[in-house]
Order: sequence, then structure tokens, then C-alpha cells
Amino acid sequence: MKRESWRGSEQWPGHDDGENPNSPYYEKRKYPEPTVCSDCGLVYHKGHWANSQIAPPHSSKEKCPACRRVADRNPGGVVILQGKYLNAHESEILNVAKNQEKLANEHRPLQRIMWTKNNADALEIAVTNFHLARRIGEAIHHAHKGEFEVKYSEGDRFARVYWRREA
Ligand SMILES: [Zn+2]
Repeated sequence: MKRESWRGSEQWPGHDDGENPNSPYYEKRKYPEPTVCSDCGLVYHKGHWANSQIAPPHSSKEKCPACRRVADRNPGGVVILQGKYLNAHESEILNVAKNQEKLANEHRPLQRIMWTKNNADALEIAVTNFHLARRIGEAIHHAHKGEFEVKYSEGDRFARVYWRREA
């Protein structure tokens, strides 16, 4: 089987950077307060989607921007991990990623890992927000060295983060 190129292919041609106010992923959109996410239970409170709020019974129901991305399988960023080193260290590396998600989530509950997937010779981590993609890539690079590169597109609001280590 042909190896995927280091640059990767345009696998998300229809992705949406979430910066257009008409985008369903627009994180700054205003909602009536209170609104509760019908999927994850975040509550829109004082202009932000927040954890640890109790939704009053009369709350409006909407999907938050992160749950919309999950439902549409439309990531805001992606981390592509490659190289032989990965075989022996996959679970440690995934733990680094999950830990970064947890840290980001404390203050930014819309930043989430959407999926991790093994492709032919790469491990792909899709996330809801480009900041989280970069953060995960940097943490893996910090802990496991290797080569690390970030490619932005869509006016810098979508990140493809590449990390590779062979030995
Ligand atoms: Zn949600």
C-alpha cells in the first residue's frame, strides 16, 4: 500500500473554521440564557459555554459548537503522528494527548478530542479547536522529541499538526 505523504492529503475539504458568524461552529455566537447543550450538558452562561453550571428547567436546548463538530465529524484541527517510534509508545503518546485535553477543558470546555484513528502508517487525533491541536503536538514533542510542524490553513483557524519520530 502506498504510504501517505508527510504533508497529508486534503482530507477535510469541506471543513469549516468556525470563524464566520453564520457557521454552526462559531464559538462566539450569542445564545439565549440559559441554554443547555442537549448532548454534553454544558450551560451557556454569561456569554460562554461553561462546565459545572446547573441548567434551570426552563433552559433552551441547543448543541454547543463542540458537539456540533462531533455530530458532523468536522474537526477544527488534526494531529498526525507518524514513525516507527509510535509502535512502542502509542499508549504513552495518547495519554499525553488526553492529558492536554483535560487541562484545556478546565477553562475551555469546547476544546475536545473528537476521535483517534489508526490510518495506514499514521495515528490521527481529530480535535474541535486548532489551539488544542497545537497544544497536543507541542506536548508530545516536549515529552518524546521527534519532528514537529504546524501547518495552518483557512486564515490560520485550522491546524494540521505533524509529529514524527522514527527511532
Ligand atoms: Zn455540547
